[in-house]
Amino acid sequence: LARRLHGIAPTIFSEMSALAARTGSVNLGQGFPDVDGPPEVIARAVEALGAGANQYAPGPGVPALRQAVARHQARHYGIELDPDTEVVVTTGATEGVAAALLGLLDPGDEVVLLEPSYDSYDAMVQMAGGVRRGVTLRAPDFRLDADALRAAVTPRTRLLLLNSPHNPTGTVLTRAELQVVADVALAHDLVVVTDEVYEHLVFDDHEHVPLATLPGMAKRTLTLSSAGKSWSFTGWKVGWATGPADLVGAVLAAKQWLTFTSGAPLQPAVAHALDHEPDFPRRLAADLQQRRDLLCAGLRGLGLDPRVPEGTYFALTDTAHLGWRDGLELCLALPERAGVVAVPLQGFYDDPEAGRHLVRWAFCKTTDVVTEGLARLGAADLTR
Ligand code: PMP
Ligand code: GLN
Repeated sequence: LARRLHGIAPTIFSEMSALAARTGSVNLGQGFPDVDGPPEVIARAVEALGAGANQYAPGPGVPALRQAVARHQARHYGIELDPDTEVVVTTGATEGVAAALLGLLDPGDEVVLLEPSYDSYDAMVQMAGGVRRGVTLRAPDFRLDADALRAAVTPRTRLLLLNSPHNPTGTVLTRAELQVVADVALAHDLVVVTDEVYEHLVFDDHEHVPLATLPGMAKRTLTLSSAGKSWSFTGWKVGWATGPADLVGAVLAAKQWLTFTSGAPLQPAVAHALDHEPDFPRRLAADLQQRRDLLCAGLRGLGLDPRVPEGTYFALTDTAHLGWRDGLELCLALPERAGVVAVPLQGFYDDPEAGRHLVRWAFCKTTDVVTEGLARLGAADLTR
């Protein structure tokens, strides 16, 4: 195995979903919904397949989707983009992260990112030859510590890799927190890559503010998103990167050698989703909020005190008081004890100690599935 992959564990999400399948467990681990997005959007994909959209799409993405993404950013956030130079379609936000880091980092460049961090960030920073510098969002509130962020920046810092709404903590960074990020980026002349895949999945009165909308930030911010979360098509792997032409160009420069282009028949369907199903994400968020409340109430009833997330698919609990050595030990025992799968968080930290007792529970599942998961947990002995 190449050195660039040394020490990178297999992705915990696949591992836990395989465990769920093997043991017939309720899968509250990997974040994917068990109900698909709008049927009309699926019909468009089927139509595109029948209409001959089966050969390579243009490398940057089909024009209809790039234009729809530009309209989406303008409609929701007032961000004006040139669809020809400031939007590129990616194979999910995962390729967006990969292409951004490969396109922007030189060996030895440091990347400041929030911890716990989504697992592909760590792997991709390493594969790109970069060095990660974590800024920990600490329990119980998981807010951004401005001093820690400032302290993480060194003369070798090349970029900040942000994620809000944040997987796995459920934190939605406030405008004030984003201003701290912006101030640091402006003071040190840094680029920010911001992963906003959960942009529409925010609850209560929380508001998603794209970093690119803060004064002075549009020209140094590369924004990543995808249709997976907002329109419940995680398996389609259609995403996009937006921002100034130089940053989008860097993504495209790398992307052309990774995948060259993304799946042709799905792109017009996603364009249709953005243009014609603009209210789907809001309905989904309202619905998810109910399942969040169901899951959190259930976990509270079990004596696990969840962090009530402000956005995303996930709630966190600290399992220390159940007597387990760590979250991984609990998660490996859960299928047999309860027939339930959840995700341990230690792999989301540079220092596993920091997330040792944290476990993530997904509520992007049907009410029946969440209820069944809770019933199984309730019937089990969860102490070590
Ligand atoms: N970023 C975050 C924070 C995620 O949670 C996920 C996975 N859902 C992704 C990126 C990957 O998105 P995609 O499936 O569009 O590649
Ligand atoms: N983003 C999803 C999660 O956090 C899963 C995506 C994946 O399996 N790579 O669970």
